[in-house]
Amino acid sequence: MLKQFTIFHMDILKKKVANTNRKLNIVFLTGAGISAQSGIKTFRDHNGLWENHPVEQVATPEAFHANPTLVQKFYNQRRAQLLSDEVSFNDGHKYMTEIESSEHNVVIVTQNVDDLHERSGAKNVIHMHGELLKMKCQDCSYRNEIVEDLEVENKCPSCGATGSLRPDIVWFGEMPYHMNEIYELLEEADIFISVGTSGHVYPAAMFVQNVPTDCLKVEVNINETQISSNFDCHLVESSSSALKKIRDYILPQK
Ligand SMILES: [Zn+2]
Repeated sequence: MLKQFTIFHMDILKKKVANTNRKLNIVFLTGAGISAQSGIKTFRDHNGLWENHPVEQVATPEAFHANPTLVQKFYNQRRAQLLSDEVSFNDGHKYMTEIESSEHNVVIVTQNVDDLHERSGAKNVIHMHGELLKMKCQDCSYRNEIVEDLEVENKCPSCGATGSLRPDIVWFGEMPYHMNEIYELLEEADIFISVGTSGHVYPAAMFVQNVPTDCLKVEVNINETQISSNFDCHLVESSSSALKKIRDYILPQK
């Protein structure tokens, strides 16, 4: 049975904030759910298909090896959409950034590859799955920002290799970034808030089990997830309305 976020839990959150005479360590984990409200395509509404390809089959090193043109096209479309007028940060990002700019130690660990947290003003963002607006070379250590399309015939400006530039995105089967830093943050967390993440993608789905026993674990999602039972409480609603409530409890003066 899902434990809904109640006044009781709000009180725990409020007391935790009021009774701790030090800065609280607050760790957010965000997923596709927070960006969906910004117009970012998640492909869930199309059965996970992009041009008849399952998205999971485009986002792999094997796919890039077999059909780099297809994979570059997929990410070029995603990048162009991110930079288009259709997409902007939403209230969920904004409220989270307001909490981040409080006196507390707040870090946003995101599985999202968009830059919407940064656009809303957030500073402490860790992109565990890479970033759409960055590229890297497979053959050397070259990394840079990118807003244009990447093409298979592009040459690496550093080593000169052709076809080695790729989006700086962690594909299925690759190791997520910054894991040591993330586990250190989780071990020190007073409040862990998971927002819009399905609980299907590992290792992020396990993070809730890596926090101390006295850490308050809050899940924000429009649906119950397969990891919901690991949390103390839930806000089953949109990320923007839930984060407004959380902001008002952590920053009661607002
Ligand atoms: Zn290179």
